[in-house]
Amino acid sequence: MIYLDYGATSFHKPPQVYRAAARAMASCASPGRGGYAAAMEAQRWVYRCREAAGRLFDCQPEQTVITTSCTHGLNIAIRSLIKPGMKVVISGFEHNAVVRPLHALGAETVVAGRRLFDWEDTLEAFRKALDQGAEAAVFTHVSNVFGYILPVEEMAAACRQRGIPFILDAAQSAGVLPVSLEKLGAEFIAMPGHKGLLGPQGTGLLLCRGSGEPLLYGGTGGASRPREMPRELPERLEAGTMNVPGIAGLTMGLDYVLRRGPEDIFRQEHRCLERCVSMLGKRGLRVFSGPHQAGTVSFLPGMDCEDAARRLAEQGIAVRAGLHCAPLAHESAGTAETGTVRLSFGFDSRPEQLSHLERALSRAGI
Ligand code: PLP
Repeated sequence: MIYLDYGATSFHKPPQVYRAAARAMASCASPGRGGYAAAMEAQRWVYRCREAAGRLFDCQPEQTVITTSCTHGLNIAIRSLIKPGMKVVISGFEHNAVVRPLHALGAETVVAGRRLFDWEDTLEAFRKALDQGAEAAVFTHVSNVFGYILPVEEMAAACRQRGIPFILDAAQSAGVLPVSLEKLGAEFIAMPGHKGLLGPQGTGLLLCRGSGEPLLYGGTGGASRPREMPRELPERLEAGTMNVPGIAGLTMGLDYVLRRGPEDIFRQEHRCLERCVSMLGKRGLRVFSGPHQAGTVSFLPGMDCEDAARRLAEQGIAVRAGLHCAPLAHESAGTAETGTVRLSFGFDSRPEQLSHLERALSRAGI
């Protein structure tokens, strides 16, 4: 199978990730729950994970809250920063993991910047919306549907200049693009552990500038007497038993990214993307591509998108079709009625795989 669905999860992992997760199941008890060897071993993995994340994302280990997914982190961040009725600016490319928590909370959202691959439009619309009474902003770094890399450094600066707090959704950028809590000045940055950070599913990270409000209340291993959750991070936001095998795997994924460097991973994905865009274009398909694009591309197959994805699966190519949990992004691009077929590359994708994809497209009648 040729796996081209890294936007959903990095189904392939470096071998050390599988090994660490399996070893942790055999050797780790619960961290912070005892001074015996198996509990201490778990504690060490948790600390190594926070430390590696701190090095990659320019923050302190204590500012790294371990979550179960990017959605989990975004829910904590949104519940902490945003109150019902607040006016919140979002980009035109947000995932439901941003749109739905804001809707559930009763926030008033203003969508700013709907043109793909157009930094000028994105920035102009974003700044204008901030100046019209915005109280907070939430935006994605990279569109999960189209691979559009938003100008987040400039968007962050626009928020800082106006004193407007913001949350960054780094679901599609963590591990492939520079992300710095310190430089961006975000209140929170949420990310999955299981995509570009190459950890197991069921892992995520939430980087926190200051404190936050718990989404879950319960035991944290220490300071058991008070009825309230501890005030200190990361424990304040980490009630319940931790996913230690997942955290051990994630630590090795972070380690891989730190050793290889996100720039090198991005370069490899981008080489695949460029060849892919050119090949799809030559076939006369409508391809969504432009400057500021990461290793993800959407196209219209000239038939029902789900049908096209099913035919490609029969040819051994794994892709995702439909709305990709991001109807807002599809509305922005004018594809809300049809959806698209999405190809997303990852750390081990190779340009040679594109000739297989090309043959599969021909056999599938696309
Ligand atoms: N935000 C974006 C842009 C995403 O692409 C995704 C997942 O596809 C999420 C949030 C949610 O991530 P998770 O599945 O880890 O909750």
